[in-house]
Amino acid sequence: MVINCYPIPIFANVQLVLGNTFTVISAVLLGPWYGLVTAILSASGLMLTWGSPHVYLLFCTEAIFIGIARRKGLFPLYSSGIYWLALGMPLTYIYMVTLADFPDSHMLFAIIKQSINGLIYAGLASLFILFIPNTWQLHDTKTNQKRRSFNAQVTYFMTLMITLCLLLSALTFNYLFLEKQQELLKRNLTDTTEHISTATEQYLNEHKMVIDYAADLISLTTSSYSELQQVLIKLHQHYPSFITMLLADTDAQVIAASPSSIMLNKTGQPLDLSISDRDYFIESFYNQRLFVSPVFKGRGFGDDSIIAISAPFYHNNDQSKVSGIIEGSLDLAFFSKIDNQNGTGDKEFIIIVDNNNNIIYSTPSLNLSTHVEFTYSNEKGNYRTSLNVINIHNLTATSPEYVYISNRLNNGWKLYVLQPLSPLVKTAETQMLGTYLMLFISIILTFLISSRVCRLLTNSLEIVANQFGQISGTELKEQIDNESTSEEVYNLYKSLTASKRDLLKHQLELEETVAIRTDELEKANQKLLALVDKDPLTGLYNRRYAEDRFDSLLDFCLRGEHAITIAILDLDYFKQVNDSYGHLAGDECLRVVSKLLKQQFKRDTDIVSRYGGEEFILILPLSNALKIEQHLNHFREQLAKVIINSPTDEQHFSVTTSIGAITANANFSKDIDHWIKVADDNLYKAKEQGRNKVIIDVINDPSDPE
Ligand code: GH3
Ligand code: MG
Ligand code: MG
Repeated sequence: MVINCYPIPIFANVQLVLGNTFTVISAVLLGPWYGLVTAILSASGLMLTWGSPHVYLLFCTEAIFIGIARRKGLFPLYSSGIYWLALGMPLTYIYMVTLADFPDSHMLFAIIKQSINGLIYAGLASLFILFIPNTWQLHDTKTNQKRRSFNAQVTYFMTLMITLCLLLSALTFNYLFLEKQQELLKRNLTDTTEHISTATEQYLNEHKMVIDYAADLISLTTSSYSELQQVLIKLHQHYPSFITMLLADTDAQVIAASPSSIMLNKTGQPLDLSISDRDYFIESFYNQRLFVSPVFKGRGFGDDSIIAISAPFYHNNDQSKVSGIIEGSLDLAFFSKIDNQNGTGDKEFIIIVDNNNNIIYSTPSLNLSTHVEFTYSNEKGNYRTSLNVINIHNLTATSPEYVYISNRLNNGWKLYVLQPLSPLVKTAETQMLGTYLMLFISIILTFLISSRVCRLLTNSLEIVANQFGQISGTELKEQIDNESTSEEVYNLYKSLTASKRDLLKHQLELEETVAIRTDELEKANQKLLALVDKDPLTGLYNRRYAEDRFDSLLDFCLRGEHAITIAILDLDYFKQVNDSYGHLAGDECLRVVSKLLKQQFKRDTDIVSRYGGEEFILILPLSNALKIEQHLNHFREQLAKVIINSPTDEQHFSVTTSIGAITANANFSKDIDHWIKVADDNLYKAKEQGRNKVIIDVINDPSDPE
């Protein structure tokens, strides 16, 4: 608002408004409604200086427009351009035509200037926004913004740069050019004024001298009136610039006149002409001086406006005896002659006024009547120009009609030389239009150049990105175009290609290693799986496996109502084996027993497992209740016959086992513990009864285990 109170005058009534920069900034950063508030403030500043309320309409609409356009993702400079073309210029035009008394000659100039002004402050605002930290911006204004292409961004900043540079320099040069033009105009006008002043003064002086000389001549002669008439006619013939010449006597009666017809009426009778009321008679006769009259309406010869030059003459050259006056009415057509000779015709106009400010002469095309007071106004008001300006037709208009230079002649007359102001405004207008045209062309060029520049970068980058993106495929198919690619991008391409190759190589190596490792792991896993169920010393299944398998074997036998045998083996006096032959011999013994167990109980369904220490458990489904005891005894006998070698000291020994077992129908119990309990009890009994013995319970009726 404060900045807008002091707009920068450019030329004529056109001023540069800069306060609106802040309206654009707030509309862009804070949204259309904050923009509106700022616009009301800044427009108020202009309202104070210009006093025209249209600024509210114009700038509030602009703020809302730019704010909304920003939310739609449009750059502020573009939206400003669109606003001025679509709304701003038409609104200004409508306002000027309907409400403001704006002269036609200034209209286009002012409208164009207004929109150029709009672009300048939008550009300045965009520039400011670039340097305003992100944290100052309201977040909701940024939510809708989508990611912009590099091309659009570069184009925008180039357009911004060009618009600002072009408009600011155009304004500066326009300003300087107009200053120069005004100076030239002033010099021309001054020259013309000097020329016409000199010519007018010469003309007057010459005719004053003629009258003075004629008065002296008449004072010296003692001719009769009729002779004087002849002298006057002769004189008049030499100086045709006088319309009429006359002599009057002491009673102000015309005694001689040229042309002589003045003294005759229409019927040819002599007139009784008295000039006693004329200034020129009074001044020359009573004050006895050479006199040049103001302009007045003649009556002797038509009713032209005339100027009289008069001087007294004396009787016999006696300065004390005034015997009359001589007068010549000057032909004012002379001024139109020098006006025409001036040669500028319709470009320059002249006005000459007398001491009373009455018009002696004015160029006919000005349509001013002579012999009336010259009224004008030369108040500049807000109008900025270094020239003197004047209004002579519409005195209240805010923009002046003419530029002028005036000069007071040494006889007190005043000369005005005028030139219409509109050609100068036209020049300014043409320049503004030229600026617009340049701006338009520059923006198109900017678009073309920047998109070309961007393509140089983005195309090659895209190729690089695409190639690097294809991780599969070992060969780089698309070759980058060496001509149009910049060195930096090409280097990037090369290093990316190299690293991609390395990466692919590394990837292959990795894949190979992973395959080998996976294979090894699988094998190890299989081993582990086997180990989990097996006892490492004997290679038999362990206790957990045996117990887990029991349930499924039981189910299997339940379906066929088969019998199952569970037998628990405990080696006899094994502690002694360890003590006598060593622990390693004990281990060897365990291995021998296991091997024999596997040989003796080799059906697929049989489970032979190490129960712990030197105890073993056998789960034998599909048992034949009649033969199982025999089978177990056979094993016991076979074991007793086996000779075991101690691996350390080549000693030989054998070992026996006690066996407790149970054979029952599968429906005996679902709980393995019940089975084991019976087998364990029998084992205990076998040990009790002297060892190396099999005790087995064959249970037929599940309800009575005993
Ligand atoms: P019994 O006839 O009453 O069974 O007498 P025993 O000496 O065999 O007594 P017991 O069954 O209580 O003794 C088990 C012994 O087996 C104890 C331990 O020294 C030995 N032993 C258990 N596991 C191993 C093993 O893995 N290796 C070796 N070498 N000895 C074992
Ligand atoms: Mg034992
Ligand atoms: Mg034992």
